Amino acid sequence: MQQFTEPRERLLLGPGPSNVSPRVIRAMTLPLMGYLDPTFLKVMDEMTELLRQVFRTSNEFTLAVSGTGTSGMEAALVNMLEPGDTAVVGTHGLFGQRIADIASRCGANVITVSAEWGKTLDPMEIEKALKDAGQVKLLAVVHVETSTGVVQPLAPLAEIAHNNNALFLVDAVTSLGGVDLRVDEWGVDICYSATQKCVGSPPGLSPITLSPRAVEVLRQRQTPVQSFYLDLLQLERYWLTDRAYHHTASMSMIYALREALMIVMEEGLEARYERHQRNADALKAGLATLGMQPLAAKGSQANPLTAALVPDGIDEARVRRSLLGEYGIEIGGGFGPLAGKIWRIGLMGESSQSSHVLTLLHALEVLLAREGLEIASGSSIAAAHQVLAGG
Ligand SMILES: *Cc1c(COP(=O)(O)O)cnc(C)c1O
Repeated sequence: MQQFTEPRERLLLGPGPSNVSPRVIRAMTLPLMGYLDPTFLKVMDEMTELLRQVFRTSNEFTLAVSGTGTSGMEAALVNMLEPGDTAVVGTHGLFGQRIADIASRCGANVITVSAEWGKTLDPMEIEKALKDAGQVKLLAVVHVETSTGVVQPLAPLAEIAHNNNALFLVDAVTSLGGVDLRVDEWGVDICYSATQKCVGSPPGLSPITLSPRAVEVLRQRQTPVQSFYLDLLQLERYWLTDRAYHHTASMSMIYALREALMIVMEEGLEARYERHQRNADALKAGLATLGMQPLAAKGSQANPLTAALVPDGIDEARVRRSLLGEYGIEIGGGFGPLAGKIWRIGLMGESSQSSHVLTLLHALEVLLAREGLEIASGSSIAAAHQVLAGG
């Protein structure tokens, strides 16, 4: 008999996926139904209603496309952009670059406004790009850049987009459920996310919401959306209006997402944001005693993901391998210009627990001491404890 590989239980403290509640795993074992079964349609409606609450929106157009976060990104862009449209894209990390890449594959004229990886985008530069470009269809930015651990303030950019008659598109893949996000209040027109970061469900769906203004623009398209699978007006007919078949719903993923969103609302959005903040603060206090500073400046550090600068002389890949092999803990390395320079530590959704912070700090103390760093044993844990105790 061939030996097949057993997946292992891991503590997922990387850039996603994060750990999920047993309730969510149990939800995935609920019975399969036909995709037009009235009972299943009710489950979908309950899920979309919870999604509106978590997005903080009253947008009727709210659903979840099949696939991971990138499918939501692709859905947003292929639907909103037609060949020849102009899009301004903020790029201060890998995911902003991915938006620009997909937008140009849509045939759009893409203008990028970049910032150094680890910094926020400058609203004045974005405003200038919109003004200089003339008629711009949309402005797109990433809320939490998971490649750098930076959170981008959104409200000022929404105002700039609207003053220039452009739609405002936001990637909330890492922020939804972990960081304050107010789709309606801040004026976000198109917002997509993913299930496996702060929402607390396995990868497989990408929630998306469109403002009435964005839906209006979508209905006025001159050309058909080049993707059949991600055609949002056809998905609207299945999810929200006629209940017409488009493609088979990923029902087990929908059960999981509904359960995860219930857990989010039981905890409460504010309490959940605060939990992410407290655990991120404890982590950073602990890392500081180990000589590790965050890449992002104070005030722009994203709670779900801390990008920490690796101490000089440390073989960062070896430490990550030991974390995984000896402790069963996953953390991430850096991409692009940050490869080899940072560790990306995620405290997202169910993974954002004070006990996990302490476990990780303990493992890092041991492994960094093995690498030759002089470390006062227990110092990082004491520092984290102090933050967790409210000190
Ligand atoms: C993870 C991530 C994505 C991509 O999502 P996948 O689920 O990997 O397809 C997009 N944007 C951001 C900000 C992300 O963190």
